Amino acid sequence: MKQSMTLIPTLREVPADAEIKSHQLLIRAGFIRQNASGVYNYLPLAKKVLHKIETIVREEMERAGAAELLMPALTPAELWQESGRWYSYGPELMRLHDRHERDFVLGPTHEEVITAIVRDEVKSYKRLPLALYQIQTKFRDEKRPRFGLLRGREFIMKDAYSFHASQESLHEMYENMYRAYSNVFARCGLNYRAVIADSGAMGGKDTHEFMVLSEVGEDTIAYSDSSSFAANIEMAPVVMEYPKSNEPQQELEKRETVGKKSIDDVAAYLGVEKEKCIKSMLFQVDNRFVLVLVRGDHEVNDIKVKNLLEATTVELATSEDTSKIMKCAIGSLGPINVDFEAVQVIADHAVASVVNGVCGSNEEDYHFVGVNPDRDFKVSQYADLRFIKEGDPSPDGQGKIVFAEGIEVGHIFKLGTRYSEAMNASYLDDNGRTQPMIMGCYGIGISRTLAAVAEQCNDENGLVWPANLAPYDLHLIAVNVKDDEQRFLAESLYNTLLESGYDVLYDDRAERAGVKFADSDLIGLPLRITVGKRASEGVIEVKVRKTGETLEINIENLVETIA
Ligand code: ATP
Ligand code: MG
Ligand code: MG
Ligand code: MG
Repeated sequence: MKQSMTLIPTLREVPADAEIKSHQLLIRAGFIRQNASGVYNYLPLAKKVLHKIETIVREEMERAGAAELLMPALTPAELWQESGRWYSYGPELMRLHDRHERDFVLGPTHEEVITAIVRDEVKSYKRLPLALYQIQTKFRDEKRPRFGLLRGREFIMKDAYSFHASQESLHEMYENMYRAYSNVFARCGLNYRAVIADSGAMGGKDTHEFMVLSEVGEDTIAYSDSSSFAANIEMAPVVMEYPKSNEPQQELEKRETVGKKSIDDVAAYLGVEKEKCIKSMLFQVDNRFVLVLVRGDHEVNDIKVKNLLEATTVELATSEDTSKIMKCAIGSLGPINVDFEAVQVIADHAVASVVNGVCGSNEEDYHFVGVNPDRDFKVSQYADLRFIKEGDPSPDGQGKIVFAEGIEVGHIFKLGTRYSEAMNASYLDDNGRTQPMIMGCYGIGISRTLAAVAEQCNDENGLVWPANLAPYDLHLIAVNVKDDEQRFLAESLYNTLLESGYDVLYDDRAERAGVKFADSDLIGLPLRITVGKRASEGVIEVKVRKTGETLEINIENLVETIA
């Protein structure tokens, strides 16, 4: 591509509203432009990189046994009502209605849509397992869209879903996906960790997040310095199980409204719509208090509170010591810093809860009365992860714990029958009995991955793309296009390189050399080939972007030098 024929609007100045390197560089190097808060135009260079990431993802998905399809972004509210998420998803869900006043959702994820497809088309165990994926635009009205493509309100995701007749079959697919994800992120040249993500993850089997290690990551992960153990500490699993003898259904009869104001305060502080499932649970572990605020789509009256996907945890070191600033993840709402006042609101409520022997219920503003944390539910040992400190021994006994910030680029999850039961997706087993399908779901943030690579691969002069993802293989520069010799040579090299199968960006613009070199460093293609003063002798310069290493060579040797 001739640079004069494409759109690469580079900037010298750092854009005022871009806080982090990847955001600044993607704007300065002319890859993206903002359209609205959290909504971006992908200019030609970014589109090329997206395409390369998508190609890697497609190859690995097909290898894992998933077939591509494409579902609509515009989805009818009825599907979301069937699953219950119409009511529980909260303000992140982009809702709209058509001219007939019918409600729709711009899909933030596609469990409902895929479950409806498979429910209608697959009836027998003979058609299972089945795994399908798409690469598509997603919409989430994030509370704090920021960091450019890292947290957008419109973004590109690869989402895959699998359907099974047995847990073993689901597990096999989960392992395939785990491998596929590891391959994808390795091929993207990322330094990442697969981390235990959540409550269902006892032993780390049911859900993993793939985290790119980066200071700007919004999650904190704890990993071992000498084994593969890694966990997201802010979403660290707390499993609360009620013994059967004390089922909430019985307790609900005795329910009372308590702490109404507190829950309101908390919801207002968090900026979440107060919705059915918001609630608080207090745990006391080793003289410390942990408050878990849950919002999400778990079942009302579910006796097991697990899969705290959308939980906020606030660690209260002691009931007195609440003054430290604590960072916490609010599930899909993103991290916030909880300040003294907010924690105090929570702490007051929490301490009151303990004193009164009250704990959270699944009903808005209702709490179980007479519930005793030790007697009536237990906190899993994994809850201790929350208190892991740097340098502690790793829970798997190998090595010591290191903390790092991470960017979540992928997430794999054993869903079980959450959606198939709600939406009636069942099959006939080999005895002719109706069974709910067992499901898994697997997401990769394609546009977020682009930004994560930019965040990890840059230097003071600009982006430094890994060869696999670079928008072009080579940057060919004619220093002075007004010089006929330089221009002719550059053009003939351009054609030779294209014929040899290279994807070349050819800077044929009538710009000063300084501008061209600065732009070239900013864009960050792996190799730069400069045709300058020595064109008449057939001598050109090859420069490696990453190392800065340069080499003067004769044009005859070009193709073999860069191979
Ligand atoms: P986060 O914790 O960052 O809000 P999430 O857990 O809500 O992400 P998932 O529902 O697991 O996200 O979606 C799958 C993937 O989609 C994520 O792992 C991430 O890579 C990507 N993703 C999610 N939200 C966004 C967003 N707002 N902008 C860009 N990519 C996103
Ligand atoms: Mg997350
Ligand atoms: Mg989210
Ligand atoms: Mg996730």
